[in-house]
Amino acid sequence: VPNHARLDAGGNVRVVVRVRAFLPREIARSAQCLIRMDPLSQRTTLVAPGDGDADPANARARARKATVEDKSFTFDNSFWSHDTDDEHYATQEDVYDSLGEEFLDHNFEGYHTCIFAYGQTGSGKSYSMMGTADQPGLIPRTCQDLFERIAAAHDETPNISYNVRVSYFEVYNEHVRDLLAAPPAPSQAPYYLKIRESPTEGPYVKDLTDVPVRSLDEILRHMRKGDQSRTTASTKMNDTSSRSHAVFTIMLKQIHHDLDTDETTERSSRIRLVDLAGSERAKSTEATGQRLREGSNINRSLTTLGRVIAALADPKKTPSKKGPGSSSVVPYRDSILTWLLKDSLGGNSKTAMIACIAPSDYDETLSTLRYADQAK
Ligand code: ADP
Repeated sequence: VPNHARLDAGGNVRVVVRVRAFLPREIARSAQCLIRMDPLSQRTTLVAPGDGDADPANARARARKATVEDKSFTFDNSFWSHDTDDEHYATQEDVYDSLGEEFLDHNFEGYHTCIFAYGQTGSGKSYSMMGTADQPGLIPRTCQDLFERIAAAHDETPNISYNVRVSYFEVYNEHVRDLLAAPPAPSQAPYYLKIRESPTEGPYVKDLTDVPVRSLDEILRHMRKGDQSRTTASTKMNDTSSRSHAVFTIMLKQIHHDLDTDETTERSSRIRLVDLAGSERAKSTEATGQRLREGSNINRSLTTLGRVIAALADPKKTPSKKGPGSSSVVPYRDSILTWLLKDSLGGNSKTAMIACIAPSDYDETLSTLRYADQAK
């Protein structure tokens, strides 16, 4: 069994956009919806805020009125979540069915996959990845589907056995923190892990906890534990969670036992589900000191990620460091995040980005849509 068959060039990056519903506070200030989505063409239009728009979030955009215009983008998919009665309303299940399920198919075929949620804080990244107890997102749904498939395969193909492991870490300020390890004592500083490079496996996090899981309950327990650890550290350190990238990894190993020859072959794939830091910090101008350093580190990870994905989506678009004619350089090394995810972003992997947008914030939404557009 070949471990990873090659994907067709150019076919390995998907970019989708999801607009979140209005929050009560936005309804309270009569925020206007600036997003239009055409379900047939998958075209998303950001509408310039009109005179009737009194939303303070759009004050800057209104002040530059003459230069602010409607902007349209086309992505692989657009998920609408405004009016629950609207036939195009995309539920958590719809998002899973159109993206998560396909990606899990690829994992069973032996590919590594990576799904990122990108967007400003409050745009629906963790809702999309993690979701809520009532409305689980991509991560818990992937876990559920994974164990259902394994249970079904147990009866259908008893000569294949499965081994599932999970790890969960966050990258904060270009440092890696293990979300499944026991947290440091309250008085202790957070503990960061080192990054190493193996000649065969590439970059990896040294001493990262990676635990075997045998059931949906077990994997969900680890997921919640990691989330809890992220939130606790974040509360202590001034809401760092919106400024860190959370990387949930499922390692799936399929062990094929050939009954005729008595030989076993293995096929392993990694499933990365990433809740990125809020993109708004990337251009914050008021930050100083620690915040500034954080800001530029987040900026570095997010801009590098954008360049890496753009290079993967279309190698011809990326200017080569070696000049015209030579093969382009994918800049994995320029940030910790892309360096660590190198194995899941290369030519044998499938990558998706969910660009999460708020319904009524012109400037932030435009910057998210532009970012997503260059990653296509
Ligand atoms: P982020 O992770 O980008 O900071 P959240 O996922 O926390 O943003 O979303 C902000 C708020 O919006 C949360 O209260 C969340 O439940 C709500 N929300 C996000 N996306 C949706 C959606 N598609 N439908 C309904 N509510 C949403």
